[in-house]
Amino acid sequence: MEEEKCVFCMIASKKVPAKEVYEDQMIMGVLDINPASKGHVIMIPKKHYNNIYEIPQDEFLQYVSVARAVGYAILLSLAPNNVEMLYTKELTKGSITPHALIHLIPRYNDDTINHVWQPQKMEESDFVAIENAIKSAIEKVKAAETQKPAKPAVEEQKKPENGVKEVKPQINISRKVVVF
Ligand SMILES: [Zn+2]
Repeated sequence: MEEEKCVFCMIASKKVPAKEVYEDQMIMGVLDINPASKGHVIMIPKKHYNNIYEIPQDEFLQYVSVARAVGYAILLSLAPNNVEMLYTKELTKGSITPHALIHLIPRYNDDTINHVWQPQKMEESDFVAIENAIKSAIEKVKAAETQKPAKPAVEEQKKPENGVKEVKPQINISRKVVVF
């Protein structure tokens, strides 16, 4: 997605109007025009990132810190039971957002939100293989951070390990991933 065509970049640069509840140099919080519940806010990094894994760690820490504060303001002002913080590429059903967003979704007793899933059956050996695959990837992410120039860690997974078939990431990460 080119940044000049991204609706969230246009909201951030005020080319598209929105109900702004929060703004600073890096981040904007606006009311979602298709709210899941009363007070549903989307927190938009002003700089275009395709997903949260592209956001440098220092910016991300600031981003979630502000999102938490705005979530707390929603709790105080609208008195829901809770405010969920959700990262998802799915904006509304069938519509995928091109821009990294955190949703702040107030929950009420009578809301119609349903996050319940059907638990998947998994063998002990599958759990162990998955555990090892993720732990191994974490080591690669850490190693990538100490090498200069660092490459996106998820692209460094080359060989299948621990009996788990290699799966290419479904997301496109074009910028350096900064973690740990
Ligand atoms: Zn954008």
